[in-house]
Amino acid sequence: MLYVDGKWVEAGVAAVDPEDRGYNFGDGVYEVIRIYKGKLFQWDAHIERMERSAKEIQMKMPWSAQELLDIAKQLMDKNGITAQDDATLYMQVSRGNSPRVHDIPGDVKPVLMGFARKKDRPLADQKKGLKAALIEDIRWLRCDIKSISLLGAVMVKQYAKDTGAQDAILHRDGIVTECSAANLFAIKNGELYTHPANNLILKGITRDVVIELAAKNGLTVHEKPFDTKFLLQADELFLTSTTAEVMPVISVDGQAIADGQVGSVTQKLQTLFEQHIEEAVLV
Ligand SMILES: *Cc1c(COP(=O)(O)O)cnc(C)c1O
Repeated sequence: MLYVDGKWVEAGVAAVDPEDRGYNFGDGVYEVIRIYKGKLFQWDAHIERMERSAKEIQMKMPWSAQELLDIAKQLMDKNGITAQDDATLYMQVSRGNSPRVHDIPGDVKPVLMGFARKKDRPLADQKKGLKAALIEDIRWLRCDIKSISLLGAVMVKQYAKDTGAQDAILHRDGIVTECSAANLFAIKNGELYTHPANNLILKGITRDVVIELAAKNGLTVHEKPFDTKFLLQADELFLTSTTAEVMPVISVDGQAIADGQVGSVTQKLQTLFEQHIEEAVLV
């Protein structure tokens, strides 16, 4: 069961207006939220970010955080997600339905769509690590907005897959930004490096959690840009996202990072993240 504009519908049943601006322009914002053992992780942070994304595209969200939480809980119920299950919740808000013109119509009403699906944590990949390909960042200049316009991300992920890699590490003129749908960290001499949260990356909630855990445990974090040379000479690399959590990257363009094994700082952060999930208050 999906939630579409106030109705509960089965997957595959047409429910979107052909002139929904999300459908025509990719005009909307979204969030993917983790559900651990039937409870939402970092709910407030996701809703705050969604509200920020909406504001940045001049869209007003007509729902309160409590209304969104009620819908999220109903989505879990209706899809059989119980206290045994790990899952993900997807929520998007499109600008709404209106005769097609580029500029923003005055009287348009946002359309909320959501679904929840069981999804196991990628624990096997977290032990092994991923192979990445270095790809030019062809996305737009407002990557800080979690927009449903994702063609740039679709293309770079596919270029990476076409080379046999599992994800893309993106660079703009040699400066490493992030991955197709995850943030990237490099470790050099025991210290963490990641691109600053400006318009060139999406400020990940997992990124924020990892930065906080690292700092609390005496690791130095530099939020500053680094280049592809630094990337390839790093001691360790890992990416972060809601679904991937702390995911090691063990090679780039077929070249091993250090000895090509998952590094000890990455493992330490994985352990800290694991503890954090257990101790954090989920809703
Ligand atoms: C969603 C996303 C991330 C990761 O954000 P989380 O809040 O950690 O899931 C990173 N980069 C991009 C481009 C994203 O869309």
